[in-house]
Amino acid sequence: MELTYFGKKIVVFVLLLGGTTSAAWARFKIPPPCKNAFSTQQEETEGAKYAGEIFKQMPVLPDSSPISQYVQQVGKKLVAVTPGYRWPYNFHVVASDEINAFALPGGAMFVNVGAIRAAETESQLAGVMAHELSHVVMRHSTCNMTKQQSVGTWAALGQLGAAIALGNGALGSLASQGIGIATGLSFLRMSRDYEKQADLLGADILYDAGYDPRGLPQFFETIEAKYGQGGAQIFSDHPNPGNRMEYVNAEIASLPRKSNPTVTTAAFTRARDLANKEKTYTSKEMEAGAWKKSGKYALVAGGPATVIPETTGSSQTQNQTQAAGAARLSRASLGIDDPLVFYNGQAFSISYPKSWRKGEGQNGSVAFVPQDGASQAGIAYGAIVEGARFQAPVKNANDLQQATTAIARQMSQQNDGMTVSGNMQSTTVNGRPAATVELRGRSPLSSGGTATPERDLLVAISRPDGAVNYIIFVSPEPDYATLKPLFARMMGSFRVR
Ligand code: ZN
Repeated sequence: MELTYFGKKIVVFVLLLGGTTSAAWARFKIPPPCKNAFSTQQEETEGAKYAGEIFKQMPVLPDSSPISQYVQQVGKKLVAVTPGYRWPYNFHVVASDEINAFALPGGAMFVNVGAIRAAETESQLAGVMAHELSHVVMRHSTCNMTKQQSVGTWAALGQLGAAIALGNGALGSLASQGIGIATGLSFLRMSRDYEKQADLLGADILYDAGYDPRGLPQFFETIEAKYGQGGAQIFSDHPNPGNRMEYVNAEIASLPRKSNPTVTTAAFTRARDLANKEKTYTSKEMEAGAWKKSGKYALVAGGPATVIPETTGSSQTQNQTQAAGAARLSRASLGIDDPLVFYNGQAFSISYPKSWRKGEGQNGSVAFVPQDGASQAGIAYGAIVEGARFQAPVKNANDLQQATTAIARQMSQQNDGMTVSGNMQSTTVNGRPAATVELRGRSPLSSGGTATPERDLLVAISRPDGAVNYIIFVSPEPDYATLKPLFARMMGSFRVR
């Protein structure tokens, strides 16, 4: 994870990704694979589980729909020329009015009706699909997951939480990330580097499939012009790297000119007419779930239109649903009167309440959570200890403040609705300079459909080696005052090594 802050580059413990390849304009070369914690087999099986969950949570048109059939035909043309590992690609259409398309790890792609309506030509629609395929080819989702769990980003907290909740310690398993769409598929959020890579490979795929490769940047340009960066859902996962048109056009200019590339087809016009007539749902309506009773949508890939059961099928999913609905803990379960036990980590030690559970991440990160204080949706109660190393060592109070601000900012970026609240305070933790700041957000707990507010305390401690350890104390707002003395005791026990 790299972020630039006050002109300073921050590199959190391990850099897993190289930068963008920006060789001379030749056909885009797929960069060396990122460090990936998942085997292709895992990516397929776990990706298929996610896909199964999409069918339960979104109105997916059955394959019998002519719109689905059309999208599958376009998909087939693209897959025929898609390089790399032969993922079991499959294509589906979601009756959503949002302009979006997404591909899950393992190769299931979902194109929203809204995206078909927004495309002006078949090459534009194929363009966004080729872009999505390219993310699958380069395994960007599982690279993101690997990065998230190594960096110990906020997104990975849910993962740690899930591992603790499920007691399997399986941080490496996709399934432990929590499958609920409500919690967001944060691994689909692409960096600008990944976006550029997907644009360039996508343009090549489009070209090889016989399409006018300009369709790809055109699609993004068109919807950006019409709806703005904030107006189309696709931009939240696929941010514009800034000069998309320029670099894609440069890539295209490097390809031998073809005489009659496909710009659009009569089949596209027919499919778009049908898309315009197709009933679609807003995100709210999808969540409300009334569409499930309509019997118009498929429950499984390739399955018929069917009434979708409200309670989902497998026992595994039921467990996950239960886990996702973590409840507020009683005062007794918080462990505030427990004796503390000593944890000796790789680079630090800390004491935590005896009844709490611990979950260890990669790179020495650790989460401590009360029994039932975490679920698939994330950690509702507890403390997470992480390390961060910055390009310039943290040497003084000013550096530490900047580092703390950057960490807080990263937390807000990775967590919808999380904001810094209050001022940063300077302090010391066992003689080491430290800074604290509070954040507010939405707790994974919910009561009656509304999220409980969350209050977090971020404590950053400067290490003698110029790196920073930070502790995030997490609590639902109503329990914060009760937990605060315990948090203070834990903080007081923290020692860097
Ligand atoms: Zn993208």
